Amino acid sequence: MDQAVLILIKPDGLKKSLTGNILTRLSETKLEIVAAKMVRVTQNLAEEHYKHLKDKPFFNEIIKYLQGELHDRKKVMALIYWGNEAIKKCRDLAGSTNPEEAESTSIRGSYGRITTSGVYENVVHVSSNDSEAEREIKLWFSPEEIIVDLYATQDIVHKEFKARSWA
Ligand code: UDP
Ligand code: MG
Repeated sequence: MDQAVLILIKPDGLKKSLTGNILTRLSETKLEIVAAKMVRVTQNLAEEHYKHLKDKPFFNEIIKYLQGELHDRKKVMALIYWGNEAIKKCRDLAGSTNPEEAESTSIRGSYGRITTSGVYENVVHVSSNDSEAEREIKLWFSPEEIIVDLYATQDIVHKEFKARSWA
């Protein structure tokens, strides 16, 4: 079954210059990249992304982590991979959430660590099921940024629309 999956290269992955390694590992899946961009992560976006974990004791720490506050820059690389069994293939390559438990050859097992405050800095995010993938993809991307039609869209006419352009 063809599926879409949201991948985030988290701030530790970018800071450690792991982008190329991670993309190379993911290319083993032979899945297609259908969207990719660098994102400056606001607190709202981070909180919305992890909203199902709001009650966890580590919630505040992972919000700071995703926002890049532990790694100097508020940015992550967001990608959508698409193809047969995309979620399972990408999660298998990523490895377990806890980098100490992840297979040593997996992405998280190779490059992740647990911080002294207990946060799992595990380099990548991978959606864990279809409904999570859909929610996350709609949160991180607009339809025009994706080169295939993944979900239903609607046309909206904006009467007054403020946008930033090059000066
Ligand atoms: N996390 C953590 N400690 C935990 C569980 C999760 O620091 O005990 C962090 C970790 O960075 C993880 C993120 O919170 O990737 C989201 O947790 P989730 O359970 O969704 O794991 P994932 O789907 O990323 O494997
Ligand atoms: Mg998750």
